[in-house]
Amino acid sequence: MKGSDCETMITTALNHLLEKIHHLLAPTGKACITCTRKTILLPSHYGICSACYKSIPWILKPRCLRCGRSIGCPDCSRRDVEPFYFTMNRSAVYYNSLMKEWLSQYKYRGDERYEGLISGMLQQAYDSLVQEITSRGWYMKEKLAQRHTVAKTPFQQGREPQHMWKPDVITFVPVSEQRLVERGFNQARAIASKVGASRDVPVRDLLKRNYDSEKQSYKTRAQRLASMHDLFGVKVQEFQSWLNHTYTTLGESARPISILLIDDIYTTGSTLNACSRVLQKAATAACVQVDVYGLTWARS
Ligand SMILES: [Zn+2]
Ligand SMILES: [Zn+2]
Repeated sequence: MKGSDCETMITTALNHLLEKIHHLLAPTGKACITCTRKTILLPSHYGICSACYKSIPWILKPRCLRCGRSIGCPDCSRRDVEPFYFTMNRSAVYYNSLMKEWLSQYKYRGDERYEGLISGMLQQAYDSLVQEITSRGWYMKEKLAQRHTVAKTPFQQGREPQHMWKPDVITFVPVSEQRLVERGFNQARAIASKVGASRDVPVRDLLKRNYDSEKQSYKTRAQRLASMHDLFGVKVQEFQSWLNHTYTTLGESARPISILLIDDIYTTGSTLNACSRVLQKAATAACVQVDVYGLTWARS
């Protein structure tokens, strides 16, 4: 055997040995999606490690009862140009730099592992929303109709709710055809489908986006609001067929139909409001009363 052959054999054997040692020393378990550290992952943490889970900036106590923001909220009090078409929005988390990174991994880099994480977090926010609406009942809606901001008043006391609130349908903020081609998927649709499937609520594709609105920064606030008006529309056939189906299921129930509108981020609320507006318009045209609730993953 030549000297060089002998060297190659020794190197290969050494590499094998090193690999085995590495395997033995590495902690058991799976790699955390976000920090890639190998550890035991709890099923309740959606694929991330305990340390990463602890860094999630949950919004547990919203300060603005309208939009669910955890800090002071000028957006809702400034809503003098346009009324609210949704009853309330709740978000799972505050949109900090870490959440921004997670969302961009999913939305722009297409890392599908984040879908389970983000939609899992949204399911928790859904459960909180259900609890909140159930415990407040119509009380809050009446209060919101009176004023934009609601004083810190205790929940209705002494009356345990008989039934948990449940939306009749989940729908989502649409992306334009162009974005759909570029990105390959609508993140809002994907997470809405997961929430609907896990909470047994039908998910319907009720809205369409007429064009892209991302380059609007040169417009004034009033111009932006005006252009928002024709940005979204309902998919007429889907809306009608959903409404007919819902009516058949609900029978002659007089209560308003609840629509839960899902999106990834709530920034100023203009997207959610514009979508709610066209849903309300279509419902009014069909002589039906609907309440639109927003559920977004992050509140900026
Ligand atoms: Zn981690
Ligand atoms: Zn607000």
